[in-house]
Amino acid sequence: MHLARQVYLDYLQNGPIRMNQVADRKYSLDALQSHEYQQRLTRLKTACLCCDTAIPETGVWPDAYYLESNDGSVAGFVEENCFLEMILHDCYGEQRGQLQENSLRELLVESADRSYLLLQQTPLGPDQWQVDYCRLDQHGEKLSNRSQVIKERSVFGTKNESMLMQLFGNIDAEEASKEQKLLLAHRAGTVPTTILEHQAYLQWQTVFSRIRVDLAAENGATADQ
Ligand SMILES: [Zn+2]
Repeated sequence: MHLARQVYLDYLQNGPIRMNQVADRKYSLDALQSHEYQQRLTRLKTACLCCDTAIPETGVWPDAYYLESNDGSVAGFVEENCFLEMILHDCYGEQRGQLQENSLRELLVESADRSYLLLQQTPLGPDQWQVDYCRLDQHGEKLSNRSQVIKERSVFGTKNESMLMQLFGNIDAEEASKEQKLLLAHRAGTVPTTILEHQAYLQWQTVFSRIRVDLAAENGATADQ
């Protein structure tokens, strides 16, 4: 009896305080997470990264792709169609056959929910870059890689103004690593901004970190040769 009373009194004295402490901690965690989410929303470009169409007031286009560069200086959404067009023309340009283009488009659309797409630009010399386009699984493991050399000017002297090169051009050259510029993309579902919420964004960051670690290992291996 005595012990039970003691426990009860102890609870009356300290229980509510502890509950409040737990609630306070939970509240500050929630507040922090919501603050970080707001910050991610604030840095977004307010238009499609490809065609500059403004994001409608009703919200980001369903099934838009979220894109972010390795230094965070480029972050925003691209309409699904704009994104597919960019990949098909800038990464598969020579496969102009309509049949291949249709099946590639189908593959991209069909696997979009369980894959990430990595675009990587590596300088090769003055006005010349290697551009890699990789498809990754949902953990960031490479599934396929497509590599090409892009020159700033064609043999006729015209400037390469492909969408992809413009996107890379928007990445802050000072901030981004001198060697490589990275853009990661993922189709973001029916309410695209949910990709920026706490849990979903953790997943995004985990995939991006893994990519950086894998690339550092690859670059280290190349440097050792
Ligand atoms: Zn667009």
